Amino acid sequence: MDRSDADMIVDFARTYQVCRECGFVDRDQGRLKVGYKCSVCGVQSEGGLMFLELNVLVLIRHIYEAYYFSDTAVEESYMAEPEEFKDLAVVVFFCILKEVLLERFLLNFMHVLNLPEGVMTRMESDNDSHRRRLENLFPSLTGQKWKDVLSKLPSNDPKKYNILDELLLRATKARNELLHEANHHSITSKLAEECFNAIPVLLDCYKHLNNIYVHPVVNAAR
Ligand SMILES: [Zn+2]
Repeated sequence: MDRSDADMIVDFARTYQVCRECGFVDRDQGRLKVGYKCSVCGVQSEGGLMFLELNVLVLIRHIYEAYYFSDTAVEESYMAEPEEFKDLAVVVFFCILKEVLLERFLLNFMHVLNLPEGVMTRMESDNDSHRRRLENLFPSLTGQKWKDVLSKLPSNDPKKYNILDELLLRATKARNELLHEANHHSITSKLAEECFNAIPVLLDCYKHLNNIYVHPVVNAAR
């Protein structure tokens, strides 16, 4: 992969646009044009607004660059196991991505709910690990468990987000074994490939979460 391929991937992630008025997210590129009417609220666009911030786009780029770490680079590498290094990098960056996406969803949702600053800080500090945010903070804000929400997200394939959830669990377990025990045997090329291929599904998952939870609150406050 050369730089332009990585740019294409970041360009794909950039296509998620949010309506400044009602907070709805989709990949309608008309939103980039000033005066374009939002298909949800009907208000004219003041120009594009990316759903994913620069730090998220940079992370996605890191995953793609790690995955396509070129054969030449592998041959010239000083590393003993460059292939293994690629797999580790893809899985670790993927885990960071899914945690950053959860964090920004929760913060954004708390922000639009207009929770007092002190309450937000307490909720965050009471749930200071990713697992606690997923198992405690997410259901206390949405009223539903993560697993149940994912199984009901709109999709042509009813199992699409259950498969994603199962992959997130496996990737997290493998990453934690690396983190806590320096054991990287669960991080395989197959797992790295699955993580790599799941990026668009993961981004779509957060698009839906935004449209189900954040958008109605923003829309109601107009
Ligand atoms: Zn709108």
